[in-house]
Amino acid sequence: MARILAVANQKGGVGKTTTSVNLAAALAQTARKVLLVDLDPQGNATTGSGIDKRTLARTVYHVLLGLGDIVHACLRSESGGFDLVPANRELAGAEVELVGLPNREGRLRAALTPLAQRYDEVLIDCPPSLSLLTINGLVAAQAVLIPMQCEYYALEGLTDLVGTVKRVRAHLNPELEIAGLLRTMYDPRNTLSQQVSQQLEAHFGAKVFRTLVPRNVRLAEAPSHGVPAVIWDRAAKGAQAYLALADELLAQGGHA
Ligand code: ADP
Ligand code: MG
Repeated sequence: MARILAVANQKGGVGKTTTSVNLAAALAQTARKVLLVDLDPQGNATTGSGIDKRTLARTVYHVLLGLGDIVHACLRSESGGFDLVPANRELAGAEVELVGLPNREGRLRAALTPLAQRYDEVLIDCPPSLSLLTINGLVAAQAVLIPMQCEYYALEGLTDLVGTVKRVRAHLNPELEIAGLLRTMYDPRNTLSQQVSQQLEAHFGAKVFRTLVPRNVRLAEAPSHGVPAVIWDRAAKGAQAYLALADELLAQGGHA
């Protein structure tokens, strides 16, 4: 059975999409079959995987609303070496439209479960909110990977996210775990960065990934080429971090 990870944090710009795309490509490099689901109307994971989000006939929007089968929305990211269920701006409307539908929190799970069997790893790139879309991501997943920047307000936001994870576990998805906290855009020369990083380790212990993702311009450049950084410039420090993160996750073991 596939391991299904939701990449979530309600804060924008913390590295969710960069993590989703590069971890998907890094896992694919280890000969695992990988599916990436873009669950953000911004469609950045779609673009970063080399897919033109403006020309899509079927996206995750159609899947969530029951307008099309997930198999028909699934595309190949040739540059990343993984499969992708894409998203674009159309998804922004789903939030309102989902409210009136049955099983509104579990629609992604229902659609994804049969498809996931074909993969070793499934990653879900969540939008920057604790909205119904993110809830669908958390309900579909076995575990949540939380990218975060080591800055002052990071811990505050984490309390809300952990609360949401607990509520989802209590009411909608009892198996949901926290896979780990991932420190992103890390700058070892910044004292605050170091302090927050140490606080995280003190509070969350083994739930903090050993791998630190440094601030690295190659990670920011790669999306404009439609190629994950781990493939665009494998030697770059940021790419190396995501390759190491893939190894760390594989060592944790899947839910086989
Ligand atoms: P989110 O999906 O959480 O909103 P993104 O992954 O889109 O965050 O990252 C926000 C911005 O920061 C993007 O422009 C991205 O290219 C850049 N970025 C992400 N991680 C890094 C990093 N480690 N080093 C430098 N830039 C990064
Ligand atoms: Mg994003």
